[in-house]
Amino acid sequence: MKKLLIMLMVIAQLPMIGQNLERHTKVIKLMGSRFEITAIHENPQVAWNAINAGIAEISRIERLISSWDPNSQTSEVISQAGIQPVRVDKELFDLISRALQVSKITDGAFDISYASMDKIWKFDGSMTEMPSEEVVAQAASKIDYHNVIMNASDQTVFLKQKGMKIGFGAIGKGYAAQKAKEVMSGMGIKNGVVNASGDLVAWGKNEKGDPFQVGIADPQNKEQVLSWLNVENTSVVTSGDYERFVMFDNVRYAHIIDPRTGYPTTGIKSVTIITANPELADALSTSVFVLGVEKGIAFINQLPGVECLIITDQDQIKTSENLSLNDKS
Ligand code: ADP
Ligand code: MG
Repeated sequence: MKKLLIMLMVIAQLPMIGQNLERHTKVIKLMGSRFEITAIHENPQVAWNAINAGIAEISRIERLISSWDPNSQTSEVISQAGIQPVRVDKELFDLISRALQVSKITDGAFDISYASMDKIWKFDGSMTEMPSEEVVAQAASKIDYHNVIMNASDQTVFLKQKGMKIGFGAIGKGYAAQKAKEVMSGMGIKNGVVNASGDLVAWGKNEKGDPFQVGIADPQNKEQVLSWLNVENTSVVTSGDYERFVMFDNVRYAHIIDPRTGYPTTGIKSVTIITANPELADALSTSVFVLGVEKGIAFINQLPGVECLIITDQDQIKTSENLSLNDKS
């Protein structure tokens, strides 16, 4: 999966005196995506131990939240939809609870129960015709986060309706990035980056002692950087994979589902969210797609410490109030 929008670039400037920080990076496919895990440390052994621990952490999370793996707790919850509650690990319980919180604040634009649509829409180029309205409506009738019933005392999750599904495609990579960062930090990595195909969290500084820089690509020319963002202890997360969409009658449908209709969203090519926590950023980037440009920006403007940049289908760039883009460089 190729992301147009985000390229991590580290610009070398003044080296810090007295430190021999080195950058170590591993590129690896995890959760079906390309992860780039960077640790900056003077001791290569410390760096690689931390990178490997980060990888193990991401794989662990994948096993917990995957809906493809029939043995995951998530699959168990899905298979018991409409039948009975399923006891899950506290970690999964909490992740689902946070996902439901995002549903609440976005008025349902974000909804992990979108997943009942996963057999209807395909964004890999294999779709040849628009599904019928009946088929869409039937599957969409299963989407409703209110029907994800959480019981904290039993630590159970119950999908109330038969045929309901949940999926973490819009929050899992951000969560995994955050957890990998925590594990690596705990192993002495004060400066690093986890980039999960454009869901990026950076902490500390680069090996020269400067802030990391993330380049926002020009939508009209992928090779050109439109603007640089200095990132220090923040995450920059982009939704909108330019290769994953379908076209019907000249309308471009993104791989994000509007839970209210069951149809994929239109009008936006990509949404980038900048905020401290990559899990929240991941969920919000998907939400803004569904909310659309105006509502999406108005919503982000209400959230302290969260900024966004939208690229529309027409390649227009829209940003939240407090996002200042640097000059082209
Ligand atoms: P990207 O895949 O570009 O990183 P996202 O983070 O927005 O983008 O994740 C998109 C994925 O989220 C979809 O492939 C699907 O698995 C899931 N999804 C689609 N629509 C919704 C929705 N309305 N709410 C929550 N998850 C969704
Ligand atoms: Mg997302």
